[in-house]
Amino acid sequence: MDSTQKISHLALDIGGTLIKLVYFSANGDYSEESRNGCSVVHGKLCFAKFETRKIDDCLEFIRFNILHHSGVQHPNGAAHDKLYVKATGGGAFKFADLFKEKLGILFDKEDEMHSLVGGVNFLLKTVPREAFTYLDGQKEFVEIDHNDLYPYLLVNIGSGVSMIKVDGDGKYERISGTSLGGGTFLGLGKLLTKCKSFDELLELSHHGNNRVIDMLVGDIYGGTDYSKIGLSSTAIASSFGKAISDGKELEDYQPEDVARSLLRMISNNIGQIAYLNALRFGLKRIFFGGFFIRGLEYTMDTISVAVHFWSRGEAKAMFLRHEGFLGALGAFTSYNNQSHNDLKSHHHTVQRAILNCSGDNFRHIPVTSNLNDSETIECSINLV
Ligand code: ADP
Repeated sequence: MDSTQKISHLALDIGGTLIKLVYFSANGDYSEESRNGCSVVHGKLCFAKFETRKIDDCLEFIRFNILHHSGVQHPNGAAHDKLYVKATGGGAFKFADLFKEKLGILFDKEDEMHSLVGGVNFLLKTVPREAFTYLDGQKEFVEIDHNDLYPYLLVNIGSGVSMIKVDGDGKYERISGTSLGGGTFLGLGKLLTKCKSFDELLELSHHGNNRVIDMLVGDIYGGTDYSKIGLSSTAIASSFGKAISDGKELEDYQPEDVARSLLRMISNNIGQIAYLNALRFGLKRIFFGGFFIRGLEYTMDTISVAVHFWSRGEAKAMFLRHEGFLGALGAFTSYNNQSHNDLKSHHHTVQRAILNCSGDNFRHIPVTSNLNDSETIECSINLV
């Protein structure tokens, strides 16, 4: 980060597995235009994430990259009773004392669900080409009609999964969820494959074949479809079902195949539960977010196929480019209503946002890339 960069307005979402950061970085010259008594500052929203278990890395990042660039005279790690930042997620409670002690930062806590919904609404209304569908290997951006956005179902796949029916700005209800989420995939994946990280598990799954372990309809029906009830021979009848009768031990399976079956099982299940909840409330649009997805085509395809299959094409699964930063963005946008001093002691509104992407088409994103961290959003903010 260059030393002339001006950073302000940090927001954190501290989850069970990952800490997500969003902060505003003003353009190099820090140009401010005055308009109706407000200063308009141009810059971009930047993103970063850290594993919650490595929280010290996050503290260091904030100390060296953000506090030093925030224009705040900050005593060396000593408590500073006026330095508030927006924070959401369970860790906003769990780690409040740690941030105060190590960085002198006080958390202005925002509700987790409220932040998630705020983040999605902000993205859908402000950032062009944010939402897209993924089906049959085709990614397509979705035009969002601001007058016809609600209601929709938000499915946030983090460590666990929350399903939220959204009816408007600040109008939402958590209608369901499941504990079989990204944490289950990573936890079981580590136990079963001995991999060390999420990226490694994804990489394994990329090279695996789920048919080695999953019991397919064709395995039961001698290779044919069960067409009378609409099941093809390749449909999964039982995830991991082949392990019952294969006479093999875990070591006899390739970790790649295990990872693939696991990813398929979790994604399928979430897609199906999401569809059932959409059906309960007559919702046709389902947005999927959370860091479990990581822009991975196989995951998105599995979820999309599950939604398409069960809804007979009636409901649509959509994904978000900034999928992992929904809560942090929601907390960030809540600076609008703030009453405390933040890093720059100003109120602000995020005025307009332009997605900074290279060309109109999606890039192919390799499995191990830090997809979201590089996707800044150009925007300007009003300082009042
Ligand atoms: P939470 O707020 O519960 O931490 P997130 O939306 O941050 O939820 O998603 C966490 C999930 O994202 C993990 O359970 C895992 O499945 C997945 N994930 C993606 N990238 C990583 C990573 N680098 N390290 C650990 N988990 C990751």
